[in-house]
Amino acid sequence: MSASPFIIIAIDGGAASGKSSSSRILADKFNLLHVDTGSFYRHLTAELLARKVPHTDLPALKAALAALQLTTRLNGRSAQMLVDGRPAGDEIRDQRVNEHVSHYAAIPEVRHALLGYQRGQVAVGRQHGFRGVVMEGRDIGSVIFPDADFRFFLHADPVERAKRREKEGRQDSIAERDRLDSSRKTSPLTCPAGATDIDSTFLSLEQVVEKMAALIAPKLG
Ligand code: C5P
Repeated sequence: MSASPFIIIAIDGGAASGKSSSSRILADKFNLLHVDTGSFYRHLTAELLARKVPHTDLPALKAALAALQLTTRLNGRSAQMLVDGRPAGDEIRDQRVNEHVSHYAAIPEVRHALLGYQRGQVAVGRQHGFRGVVMEGRDIGSVIFPDADFRFFLHADPVERAKRREKEGRQDSIAERDRLDSSRKTSPLTCPAGATDIDSTFLSLEQVVEKMAALIAPKLG
């Protein structure tokens, strides 16, 4: 009998489209490593802001990025990025980071600094005995893992998404981040050809996960 395969699941979508909640549930259900790449961009942003390196100063940005050491530790089933040995703090969800993150994420050098690190999470998943990786972000199915076993793209009406953030008690710049993320030149937010597009506006989280799990389960046996 052949061993069950190690699978890669890519979930992309705009801000508050339900990526994190659905990824976490899938990770628990199928014993997958959960990788929230948005938290990586947020952590880098918080770090660069703390070092007073503006996104407009490319030489300073390059020097700062070259000096950063990125490593991973597990937090339950989630991969947590450490920058120079430090985990991200709560501030990565604050309005200051919300307002700046898409500006830093639009810079090719910033994306390049995270490219190999993100792909390296497959080795982390294998090393820790997971059956696969579920990675969420904006360019996972288009750039990071275009050959992923499953590629999902989540979208939802902006009004519904703003309500979701309100319910979580969080302020966010959803529309502005989507605008910047979709219009940037490098790795813009887009539904890649061949991905499964799910509109979650009128679906519960359980219904979204059910749709995804129905496709994934047969592969894992
Ligand atoms: O997923 P989340 O909303 O936390 O992501 C924060 C920001 O990080 C996004 O608005 C986007 O600018 C950036 N991001 C990205 N590519 C990814 C994941 C996140 O550009 N793969």
